[in-house]
Amino acid sequence: PVRVRFAPSPTGNLHVGGARTALFNYLFARSKGGKFVLRIEDTDLERSTRESEEAMLKDLSWLGLYWDEGPGVGGDYGPYRQSERNSLYKQYAENLHQSGHVYRCFCSNEELEKMKEDAKQKQLPPMYTGKWASATKSEVEEELSKGTPYTYRFRVPKGSLKINDLIRGEVSWNLDTLGDFVIMRSNGQPVYNFCVTVDDATMAISHVIRAEEHLPNTLRQALIYKALGFPMPYFAHVSLILAPDRSKLSKRHGATSVGQFREMGYLPVAMVNYLALLGWGDGTENEFFTLDQLVEKFTIERVNKSGAIFDSTKLRWMNGQHLRARPSEELTKLIGEFWKTSGLLTVSAGPFIDEAVQLLKDGIDLTNDADKALANLLSYPLHSTLQSHETESVLQDNLSEFAAALLAAYDSGDLIAALEEGLAGWQKWVKSFGKSLKRKGKSLFMPLRLLLTGKLHGPDMGASVVLLCKAGTSDVVAPEAG
Ligand code: GLU
Repeated sequence: PVRVRFAPSPTGNLHVGGARTALFNYLFARSKGGKFVLRIEDTDLERSTRESEEAMLKDLSWLGLYWDEGPGVGGDYGPYRQSERNSLYKQYAENLHQSGHVYRCFCSNEELEKMKEDAKQKQLPPMYTGKWASATKSEVEEELSKGTPYTYRFRVPKGSLKINDLIRGEVSWNLDTLGDFVIMRSNGQPVYNFCVTVDDATMAISHVIRAEEHLPNTLRQALIYKALGFPMPYFAHVSLILAPDRSKLSKRHGATSVGQFREMGYLPVAMVNYLALLGWGDGTENEFFTLDQLVEKFTIERVNKSGAIFDSTKLRWMNGQHLRARPSEELTKLIGEFWKTSGLLTVSAGPFIDEAVQLLKDGIDLTNDADKALANLLSYPLHSTLQSHETESVLQDNLSEFAAALLAAYDSGDLIAALEEGLAGWQKWVKSFGKSLKRKGKSLFMPLRLLLTGKLHGPDMGASVVLLCKAGTSDVVAPEAG
């Protein structure tokens, strides 16, 4: 049976790279009818925190990547936090000692430092010399009786090791430059690679899908796997996520954590869709997928082995597409709630919000853009002075007659009365206004737009001013114009 795991270290926020790894694991599990396990790798007690773990779980849930086993849901292979599995690591370390795959090393730190120095002088890679690899029983007994602290070292075999990576193909290592490595420190603390292997083996993980940067760990883990006598899982190493300049994606490139994107007003569907495209495609032109569609289409063979570029402009665009594709009631609710929380509107629902959302949605990519769009609309100078001379210079048109006529229509109440009748009223008024000035088409609409809205471009003018007129009589908190 397919069992995969996402194994974050709770030392910070969930980043887009981690989220993509989680997503690929999730998709693989779901598409194969397997299990998606969440394991918390908190062996680094100093850097791991419960807050970070909780935040990561929250981010995964927000993305819709629910796990079948792990913290909060339990399962048959727990506990699911490494910090709670110490007895297991001890037990397997002892087993490996019994079988001769690991041995006690009594070297002091000074000795180990000296080995490194010597290797450096001979221009060799820093490597454990194997000093205690073939110690006699009495040599060991002697150190034990003196109480000399020791580590457990893994006896690296000669030759080479190769794996068949599901994404990268054959990967092989020469073992001659890999010294015997520590799996258990002298204070009894197991070492990271050892914990991961014991966990993957005892949790019956069938496929290890993780970031490329873990390849050096895979070498050690595969050796431990063999020694433990567990069947080796399949490995799939996903390539790095790069910034547009092809450097490693980092904070200086802008937002990189899932929580930041959530706060900026991104939708989980769009995040999931975009993350999937970082290194995967279904082989067609189609780029739009919901999580369910991804489950249907995903195959690990289609994951690309070259680095994927994180393009925040494309993510934003994609969010806009997903946002506009939501059913209109959902959109009204989402954006209406947002306006209410941001204090722009004090009405919670009603036709005003509905109309405003429909009018403004084309200019909105993120929920958070809705504020600016509405504030912009509400700042149209309909209710303030019409500044004709500025308009003239922008349009290179003599508009004094035009502006005077518009002002007169406004002052007399004709314009407002027409607007109060809605779009039809507005259309009738525009027609007769144009006739009276002998203007139509662009020469009518451009100055009208500029005088009424203060801008040359924007959403549909008629709908905008009708809505604006409504705002004047609704419970709308108009912001300062500007
Ligand atoms: N805990 C590791 C990390 O957060 C993942 C290890 C693994 O997937 O094997 O990078």
